[in-house]
Amino acid sequence: MTTFSTISPIFDVDTIRQAFPILGRMVKDKPLVYLDNAATSQKPLGVINAIHDYYTGYNANIHRGIHSLAEEATAAYEVTRHAVKQFIGAAAAEEIIFTRGTTEGINLVAYTWGRQNINAGDEIIISGMEHHSNIVPWQILCEEKNAVLKVIPVTEDGELSLMAYQNLLTDKTKLVSIVQVSNALGTVNPVKEMIAAAHHVGALVLVDGAQSAVHLDIDVQDLDCDFFAFSGHKVYGPTGVGVLYGKKKILENMPVFQGGGEMIKEVTFEHTTYNELPYKYEAGTPNIADTIALKSALDFINTIGKTKIRKHEAGLLAYATEQLETIPGLAIIGKAREKASLVSFVIKGTHPQDIGILLDNQGIAVRTGHHCCQPLMKRFEIPGTVRASFALYNTFEEVDKLITGLHKTIKMLS
Ligand code: PLP
Repeated sequence: MTTFSTISPIFDVDTIRQAFPILGRMVKDKPLVYLDNAATSQKPLGVINAIHDYYTGYNANIHRGIHSLAEEATAAYEVTRHAVKQFIGAAAAEEIIFTRGTTEGINLVAYTWGRQNINAGDEIIISGMEHHSNIVPWQILCEEKNAVLKVIPVTEDGELSLMAYQNLLTDKTKLVSIVQVSNALGTVNPVKEMIAAAHHVGALVLVDGAQSAVHLDIDVQDLDCDFFAFSGHKVYGPTGVGVLYGKKKILENMPVFQGGGEMIKEVTFEHTTYNELPYKYEAGTPNIADTIALKSALDFINTIGKTKIRKHEAGLLAYATEQLETIPGLAIIGKAREKASLVSFVIKGTHPQDIGILLDNQGIAVRTGHHCCQPLMKRFEIPGTVRASFALYNTFEEVDKLITGLHKTIKMLS
């Protein structure tokens, strides 16, 4: 079997791997091969240490205390906000709202902007490759408001039909909410074009950046999206922290989300006035430690550079695709012209879950199932797929192990 491992790497993967202690562990007596990065990526030492440093050095609540610890914690928390602003090219730090993750960001928009602006007969457009977290909040809203949810069809190759999208856009369209990179297919959608088309009919656009933020250069001003949501844990950061970006003008005019401390200016029993952006949307004590550590994750990505990361991951994807296609009975689901670094597949006569279990026995972690995209699985008439998703620390040798592991697995299942 040819291997790319002899070709000079884009960067020194071995050194990068040393920053991720978990990659050194064994699973079922085999070295871990972690290919489930689209579910959550592993964390570099900088992120782990940042959490440790906060709890051992300056744990305090933020924005309230006047003592030194509170000031240090507040400053570090706000530094992350500025780092996120840079990371996604926002115009102002007030446009960055910390959430629990992509899911909460989308729900925040549905429960605030949605309830204020969607009325009976209005239309919301999503696509056929959305994650449940970008389907269900809009479904709930449409049911409540008697609005209509329209779906852009997915082609056999796993792309969005842009012609169909154009035909769905009408003067009743109030919102388009689309994924930039599909977690189940890897498809990179042409969101910039789609945003321009939506704005043409006066609709706003939310971009689900859960899978794209880690791979693509994100410039929300260039995209001109109205909202952009992503999760810390998929960009080498901690779980429990995410980001909702919104254009300042839109956020300012939206009603509040959760009520509580921090989001208020003044409270009386008769009336409450609300805080300014972004605090208006950050009720209660937030996830301080993990938000602070998110900055270390962004620093880690920036230090290596997304261009290099993308090149390395594109090499892994191309190699994995080429090798997978040599396996008899294997069909790749999602053959879009532009893909990010994951590959989904099914193998004739086998169930994805059995493959996942047998690969795990060989120390190889992949994701199996519907990937929270049940309507998409229905579209392809399959119960689910096996998904291998790559990160900057994966190697070509690991792709070889996946392929060898699959050959063994198929033998065991036949
Ligand atoms: N959108 C996409 C495309 C995803 O892949 C995911 C998670 O897998 C989500 C949304 C939800 O992200 P989270 O569970 O971090 O809120």
